[in-house]
Amino acid sequence: MIDPLLLSQKLISCPSITPKNEGALEILEDSLYALGFTCERFDFEGIVNLYAYIGSGHPHLCFAGHTDVVPLGEASLWTHPPFQGVIHNDRLWGRGTADMKCAIACFISALSRFLNEKPFKGTISLLITGDEEKDAIHGTQRVLPIIAERGHLPDLCLIGEPTSLNEVGDTLKIGRRGSVVGKLICYGTQGHIAYPQYTDNPIPRMLNTLKALYEYEFDKGTDVFEPTRLEITSIDVGNTASNIVPQRIEAHFGIRLNILQDAKDLCEIVKSICNEYAGKHDLQMTIHGNAFLTKDSDKIMLLQKAVQAATGYFPALSATGATTDGRFISHYCPVIECGMLESTMHQVDEHVGLNDIQKLMSIYISILKVFFLSAPSPSASEE
Ligand SMILES: [Zn+2]
Repeated sequence: MIDPLLLSQKLISCPSITPKNEGALEILEDSLYALGFTCERFDFEGIVNLYAYIGSGHPHLCFAGHTDVVPLGEASLWTHPPFQGVIHNDRLWGRGTADMKCAIACFISALSRFLNEKPFKGTISLLITGDEEKDAIHGTQRVLPIIAERGHLPDLCLIGEPTSLNEVGDTLKIGRRGSVVGKLICYGTQGHIAYPQYTDNPIPRMLNTLKALYEYEFDKGTDVFEPTRLEITSIDVGNTASNIVPQRIEAHFGIRLNILQDAKDLCEIVKSICNEYAGKHDLQMTIHGNAFLTKDSDKIMLLQKAVQAATGYFPALSATGATTDGRFISHYCPVIECGMLESTMHQVDEHVGLNDIQKLMSIYISILKVFFLSAPSPSASEE
């Protein structure tokens, strides 16, 4: 049996800040080979990805995740060394504990118990990328078409991203918001502040534009999605003088959009607001993805019941939070996410409770049992 805590500690010890691997995938491969999995590497532009599978045909459950982690932030503020897998006060400390190396360790440990019990019919696969936390260009997005080409698409993808609020398993994510980022530069005419008649100050135009963007009501949200919102992330003039009207001002913003919006339409709305208020300006917008929502209510209910069987509580459904690789996978199959507590992800002193590691492993065992043993997927007859 694989110990989820030991495997977590090994993974945490790899300083795999995107795009580095630092031995993380090798650790997974060693465990998965021992369980009888076939492991395949996909290297794209220096990013390593792993696709591992056991069995054949349907039902097919895929676990998706990433071994890369975000940087430390202010390294001196960490109470415990972030890449050593320190256990203190019944918690495991380190970068990647919540997001999301422990979840991968829990799933592989769950597999070691599930596969040991009795034979199953179908396929279990893992799609693990090293390129989720940054651009996410050379990871999941590139491996999926290859798997699809082979006709190896899963009936359901379980993502181990942190989803839980107060107790592990109290919330499943069945969707995620999309993301658009933008940069706006307003131009004016530089000059002496005592002679405004010879100047054109771009700052008031920028402020009016940002106010209009900030207050714009894109929608009111849905039962699982928060309203689409634009947040301003920086405003810079770079003016070191107190008597000069600046020539330019630059602002950055990000929009998290829900299922009611299409990213391209949203860009048009932003464009028209800028045209109305910004005067002479440049606007650049980058679309990082639309929102997605899993609508397969049978599979959602299946997983909710599996979590309840392991924890005693029925998980809530949500679509809040950051973007994940679910935005790519959702084009191929239904996606449901279930993982650790969200609260310390990406923070200094990221950690998980030792009992949460055990609990998440139990949840994954229950999901495997429910998915393969009690409720064959509708597509099982295709094989
Ligand atoms: Zn993550």
